[in-house]
Amino acid sequence: MTAPRSMPMPKPKPKPNPNVDNLVIGGGLAGAMAAMRLAAAGRDVALLEKEPAAHHKVCGEFLSPEAVAYLHQAGVDPVRLGAVPIRFLRLSAKSRVVETALPFTALSLSRCVLDEALLARAAEQGCDVRRGVSVEKLTQRADTWVAKLSDESLQSAHTAFLATGKHDLRGWTRMPGKHNDLVGFKLHWRLATAQTEALRQFMELFLFSGGYGGLSLVENDTANLCLVVRRSTLRKLRGWNELLAALRLENRHMQQRLEGAQPLWQRPLAISPIPYGYLATRPHGLWCVGDQAAVIPSFTGDGMSIALHSGALAAQMHLAGDTSDQYHRALQSQLKSGMGLATWLSRAMVTRAARELVPLGVSLFPRAIKSIATSTRIPSHALLAASPQ
Ligand SMILES: Cc1cc2nc3c(=O)[nH]c(=O)nc-3n(C[C@H](O)[C@H](O)[C@H](O)COP(=O)(O)OP(=O)(O)OC[C@H]3O[C@@H](n4cnc5c(N)ncnc54)[C@H](O)[C@@H]3O)c2cc1C
Repeated sequence: MTAPRSMPMPKPKPKPNPNVDNLVIGGGLAGAMAAMRLAAAGRDVALLEKEPAAHHKVCGEFLSPEAVAYLHQAGVDPVRLGAVPIRFLRLSAKSRVVETALPFTALSLSRCVLDEALLARAAEQGCDVRRGVSVEKLTQRADTWVAKLSDESLQSAHTAFLATGKHDLRGWTRMPGKHNDLVGFKLHWRLATAQTEALRQFMELFLFSGGYGGLSLVENDTANLCLVVRRSTLRKLRGWNELLAALRLENRHMQQRLEGAQPLWQRPLAISPIPYGYLATRPHGLWCVGDQAAVIPSFTGDGMSIALHSGALAAQMHLAGDTSDQYHRALQSQLKSGMGLATWLSRAMVTRAARELVPLGVSLFPRAIKSIATSTRIPSHALLAASPQ
């Protein structure tokens, strides 16, 4: 008789270190990027993410070439995760539709897949990634940061990186941005087959009364509809269903796209307020990254590259011995002019005049798209190389 084989015992999870070098609050793109670079440099890093598992986020899911380059540096290949290419822009307003080629090839991938892949990379680099734990309160005592967590425990660290994205931490609320009255929505759809084919390789930007949005495919031929609308317009319409009906009535192209489409969720995700144009200047000793540092209007498709860039820059400057104040000033000078232009355009795009003039302008001056796309991106000289492993 063979002896019963003993079952391998699961390795006990090491107890979390209550006092680390670096605490990263929030496990989106910015937090994961900062955490993995700090951990790769040998720092003891804890990353706390309030959601227990992969989750969807309000986002157009358009990955600019800069974002893709940072993801490759982080060891994440979006195409292997199912990302699809975006080569063209189709703009619609009322009954007008114009098309133009983008000055680059972008990608599109759902945040649910992307953020999870980046968090996994942070853990592989040695970062203690803790899920389902939120920071309730953050205070500074002498040269130590102390976070009170949702499980009532305390976590302290020499340095804290604030990466809570769209959500402000109590006591650390961002100042309002320069275009604040918009509500963001996102819903995934299964389009009719012919509409899916017509959407392939396109980012479709659409304008409607009081707002604008984007429609594109992500992995598995799922279509992502993401839009922003003025709060006053939403109040008048009363809710999401009425907003969607009004959009379809006004914009014939979107009506055609959504004909026979099935929403994949019962209701859309929503986010408000969105402080478009916000650029952090807080000299508190706290390192703000991602949307906690800068919120660029979503039509630029540049928020994720800024999140990745700011996470990488903050880690690099911290490791080099710079202060958080120096980091915020450097980031501000890199982003200021693109942010100014994007915010001005975002304000213009929700006006009645834009619905008449923007499609006409793009059909007459297709090169204007290239010039706007270039002027609102992170300047190429500011982009960072991979950190030494
Ligand atoms: C309508 C809209 C459309 C957009 N479209 C695009 C686009 O197409 N392309 C693009 O590049 N960008 C786009 N963006 C911008 C992009 O989504 C953001 O810039 C990006 O998600 C910022 O990343 P982040 O890591 O700063 O924050 P997030 O991705 O929001 O991550 C923050 C994380 O912190 C966690 N968290 C929050 N509070 C706590 C807490 N107290 N404790 C612990 N964890 C916490 C959250 O659960 C979350 O996982 C869009 C934004 C909007 C609003």
